[in-house]
Amino acid sequence: MTIYRGCLVSYLVTAGPPTPNGDLHLGHLSGPYLAGDILTRYLRMIGERATYISAGDDHQSYVARMAKQEGRDPATVAAENGARIRESLASAGISLDLFASPAQSPRYSGFIERFFRTLLDRDALEERTTDQPFCITCDRFAFEAHLRGRCSHCDAESDGGICEACGKPNAGADLIDPACVTCGGTPERRPLRQLWFPLERYRSAAEFTFACAWLNPRARALVAELLAQPLPDVPATQPAEWGIAVPASGYDDQRISAWFELGPHYLALTDLLPEARGNPGGWQTPWTGFDNVVQCFGFDSIYFHVVLFPAIFQAFDPRLRPPIGFITNEFFRLDGSKFSTSRGHALWAGAFLREHDADALRFHLARVAPEIEQTNFTLDEFEATRRDELIGIWDDWLKDLAKRCEAAGGMVPLAPAPRSAPLALARLASLFGDLSHCYSVQGFSPSRAAHLLSEIVRVARRFRAEHAVFDGKPASALEAAGALAVELAFARGLALAAAPILPGFADRLWRDLGERGAVAEARWELLPAMPTAGTAISLSTTGYFEPARPGSEPAPPEPTSEAETTPPADDIETAPSEAEGEPIDANAEARAEAPSPAERTEPAPRANRRRAR
Ligand SMILES: [Zn+2]
Ligand SMILES: [Zn+2]
Repeated sequence: MTIYRGCLVSYLVTAGPPTPNGDLHLGHLSGPYLAGDILTRYLRMIGERATYISAGDDHQSYVARMAKQEGRDPATVAAENGARIRESLASAGISLDLFASPAQSPRYSGFIERFFRTLLDRDALEERTTDQPFCITCDRFAFEAHLRGRCSHCDAESDGGICEACGKPNAGADLIDPACVTCGGTPERRPLRQLWFPLERYRSAAEFTFACAWLNPRARALVAELLAQPLPDVPATQPAEWGIAVPASGYDDQRISAWFELGPHYLALTDLLPEARGNPGGWQTPWTGFDNVVQCFGFDSIYFHVVLFPAIFQAFDPRLRPPIGFITNEFFRLDGSKFSTSRGHALWAGAFLREHDADALRFHLARVAPEIEQTNFTLDEFEATRRDELIGIWDDWLKDLAKRCEAAGGMVPLAPAPRSAPLALARLASLFGDLSHCYSVQGFSPSRAAHLLSEIVRVARRFRAEHAVFDGKPASALEAAGALAVELAFARGLALAAAPILPGFADRLWRDLGERGAVAEARWELLPAMPTAGTAISLSTTGYFEPARPGSEPAPPEPTSEAETTPPADDIETAPSEAEGEPIDANAEARAEAPSPAERTEPAPRANRRRAR
């Protein structure tokens, strides 16, 4: 636990906003959403106050583009997909304190408008007329999602705004061979009057953030390269019909640029937080009330979060502190090529989690996460992780341990530790030390953490194999009992250590080991403790990762935890069309159909609610 000025240190963890133009796919899940969830769970276990928030990127031009293609209203598209994304996050056990739908929140847009007006009052925005791509066929300016060409930095195909390949921004007009996405035509240039943010004027904020905040080496290299050049001017408004109105006269036909909005977006979310918690208050309290802000997002958002947003913050209020850390991820490929919502090359989170165990998916995604380079997902590899590792190694040990515990009277034996115990427990403590690093902001690596969890199981299995020689020998009964207690210390350690990545499994195991309360509320241990002799043990003899057999176990009623993702009330009330009439708790249906493990008597995190197959 960190003590700072006599109080606990508080963290605000944010995940980059998903664009509500479809459900989340596994590529999204493997990135900022799982990362933020793992980090938040760990921070709480070490005693920090951590708040985890995100929201839809409702006003994106991609939403408007999709709505136009489908002949629908962008607000409806954003609301429907926002509800779908919220359900998918809950199904994956991503436990957010707030997942807002900005387009449905007058308080959110009111905040953005006030923020924008303040920038105008402080002369931080400049009116300027420049030549911009205009599609004659479509009779409109082409920008962001509506424009595609080749990046002038790396020659990769890129939309307007940001190049996903190299992470560098573009002004749209500087794309090579630009084309209108709607009609494929070559746009001409026409003068356009917009409000611009002179980023170079505020470069000191970006430099300060870069100097102070934690970034992984690849992100540092990109930001260093960006800061070595004069910083570009950034359009703060775009000629659009979808988005937040520009609070300045003469801009009725424009909206605040969705990319520009994302800076104050995070401040606006903290403004919604007290309301979501039933404690309305000003935004100053939540944003500046956090000691540390950590932001999680993909590689292609580094420029925005590390360079642009700190500059916008400084222009708004120089007292706003920048984040202390940025956790970034590379792209995740599916069967060798990039996940793509628009091309439909994706495994959708909602559908996938109706068929597969959330904990197994979280473990596999953590294991193969694209932390420092692009990585790949295949269904075969996911199945192999579940079958060969979680069932073949973890469950295999735990089921065997369960049988031996039953034979020993179903409780932690009271016996002297065998002579080999100190070495084995020292190894467990060492793994916990490594895990503490992998779960921390600076050392953050769910991939390494997942491998360390497997190592805990392997060390325990080896310890068991060494001590199996005592089985059934009356002269060695005390040694055998002592060795069993040490193995139970490993099982207890596994439950604690796995809680950030496999929260459902960890909670079941924790309770089955006779520990009180939820594992999420347990304290992280640097020196994992031995279980208390006499504690009742009821480990599952059928394992923790086998698919549940339909009808074999009744689903107990589970109250909804208030601490879990509860969308703000105004979002629920205004949830439109498809979301209407559906249960607010996205997992109600899952619980009804999912036979929960018989051993569990108290509610487990959503992640462990398995679906019958
Ligand atoms: Zn590029
Ligand atoms: Zn066109």
